Amino acid sequence: MDISLLRSIRAQFPILSSQIHGRELVYLDNAATTQKPLTVIESIDSYYRGCNANIHRGTYLLAAKATEMYENVRKQVQGFIGARKSEEVVFTRGTTESINLVAASFAKRFFSGNDEVICTGMEHHSNIVPWQLAGATMRVIPFNDSGVLDLDAYQDLFNKNTRIVAICHVSNTLGTVNPIAEMIAIAHQHGVPVLIDGAQAVAHTKVDVSALDCDFYCFSGHKMYGPMGVGVMYGREQLLNQIPPYQGGGEMIENVTFEHTTYNALPYKFEAGTPSVGDVVGLGKAVEFIQSIGIDTIAKHENHLLETATRGLNAIPDAKIFGTADGKAAVLSFLIGSAHPYDVGTLLDQLGIAVRTGHHCTQPVMDRYGIPGTVRASFAVYNTEEDVAAFLSALERVLPMLG
Ligand code: PMP
Repeated sequence: MDISLLRSIRAQFPILSSQIHGRELVYLDNAATTQKPLTVIESIDSYYRGCNANIHRGTYLLAAKATEMYENVRKQVQGFIGARKSEEVVFTRGTTESINLVAASFAKRFFSGNDEVICTGMEHHSNIVPWQLAGATMRVIPFNDSGVLDLDAYQDLFNKNTRIVAICHVSNTLGTVNPIAEMIAIAHQHGVPVLIDGAQAVAHTKVDVSALDCDFYCFSGHKMYGPMGVGVMYGREQLLNQIPPYQGGGEMIENVTFEHTTYNALPYKFEAGTPSVGDVVGLGKAVEFIQSIGIDTIAKHENHLLETATRGLNAIPDAKIFGTADGKAAVLSFLIGSAHPYDVGTLLDQLGIAVRTGHHCTQPVMDRYGIPGTVRASFAVYNTEEDVAAFLSALERVLPMLG
């Protein structure tokens, strides 16, 4: 990326100039959450200073203004993910709530006992547990040592009990970008709908839900430069009309009596209660931020950093990378010899490098490799070659301490 563009991007993130243990922060935990640009931070501030009112219900100007801001972001998100209608965009608290919503509502409508959900072996817990809570048996697509799914095994998992395929677009632990277009087409040949967990995808790769032809697509604002506490559940209109509401309360109703309640139209049927309006406004600014740079420019930059970091890591004796699929996203999970990932992470923190350690909410991935966890460095658009160099040299420095 052009250095002046990168500088201007970094200047938009106040936290990047902060000091950690007396050193400049090198933030490499972007798969957990990205930092927020000023436009996002300031939009939330100015919403609460000048526009705060509860939406949809007010007759006064401020409420109308807040409602307009909220609904405009829905249209923005619609364009961002290529949904056919803004009614197909439901605001939630994040990916986790989006998947819980679909799992609970879909199960109520379509589960009948002996229900199976096909997922990959690299799912985040939030795309496993909601389905288990809904009563499903998980049927799991295995992956090879590089982190590539076995699509022949996938084909063999379909049977008369298969109700839905629920798979991640990009693995938060291995970085694998799964061939979801092909996998969606296969599921549809079996007459089975598909939910995509896009938590790790939307900020790093172009997503077009209409071209993908997926039935549900879930993601979080906070992993795409937006605020925490807001996310999206995209659903195909026809399916959203078939499944019942997830939560009951204000806004999701058409008419309530003590005997019988009828529900509001899409998308309000799935948005019970007062939403996090200020955060939705911030999400709109996050979408603008990504679009202002361009997702292709972002992906190219992150891939360059990933390649540099991978080369450096491979040069360290005893370093082992987990997830080496072709075309993977900028997530680098690794171990060094028998050092505990937590020790590596703690020592790196002392040198100002923020990485994540542990199972990354993907315990089945750890079981697959027979390891307790990994150290994970993950990159975003504001990371630099200097960040990668600082990360690698910090690793060199901590190596002797790892025994
Ligand atoms: N799925 C994946 C692939 C993720 O990486 C994450 C966050 N680590 C989630 C789901 C859950 O997202 P959230 O915590 O924002 O709901």
